[in-house]
Amino acid sequence: MPENNIVTLLSGGLDSSVLLFHLLEKNPDANVHALSFDYGQRHRIELEAASVIVNAACRQYGVHTLEYDLIDLTSVGRLLSGSSLVDREVEVPEGHYESETMKATVVPNRNMMMLAIGASIAVSDNAHLLTYAAHAGDHAIYPDCRPQFTDALLRAIAYGNEGFLNPDFKMESPFIAWSKADIVARGFELGVPFEKTWTCYKGRRPACGRCSTCVERLEAFDHVSLTDPLVYRDRTFYKSVV
Ligand SMILES: [Zn+2]
Repeated sequence: MPENNIVTLLSGGLDSSVLLFHLLEKNPDANVHALSFDYGQRHRIELEAASVIVNAACRQYGVHTLEYDLIDLTSVGRLLSGSSLVDREVEVPEGHYESETMKATVVPNRNMMMLAIGASIAVSDNAHLLTYAAHAGDHAIYPDCRPQFTDALLRAIAYGNEGFLNPDFKMESPFIAWSKADIVARGFELGVPFEKTWTCYKGRRPACGRCSTCVERLEAFDHVSLTDPLVYRDRTFYKSVV
């Protein structure tokens, strides 16, 4: 049987956690290698969440082949000023993602860095698949979540690793056409322990309920009539900004 190796990016947030469970359910014979990145993010609680999610996924699927690595990009993160997620001088904006102020949550070239490192590891693992959890709602604010970017990057990876990459290699986000609410519904179906995932950009417990990513998450649960089991400081603010 051919090797079935998959590399996936896992932030410890809701989307990438659902993706990990989704991959394990769909590919029971795969060797999955999950990667998290420490880029000095303010919300570094998500890194603790990532390893808890890996353990939960191992227990749920009874797998022993799930490999997990935390990659240290803190020396790069220190050089990235202007993004509220890494620069402590810039406040995390509150409100809806649509707003212009949300540009402060963009980390320059973040997905390029992570996917490029993921591709290196995919070559090393002889993986046929590199996945990440961009979804339809990410496009407007984050240019590096758009299909144009990932299509171009996939071509660059194929050229740059010709003769070394698994011949069946693909890079994809299975959720690229899904809404956040679709991801919540899928996670619920898979039994993802949502209370163990971390989303809030402010990075302090309890989650604020007011930053763009908290608002988006609470809206998504609301949309599918589910209750988010995560504890929030302000669980009703999102209703005032939709
Ligand atoms: Zn928040």
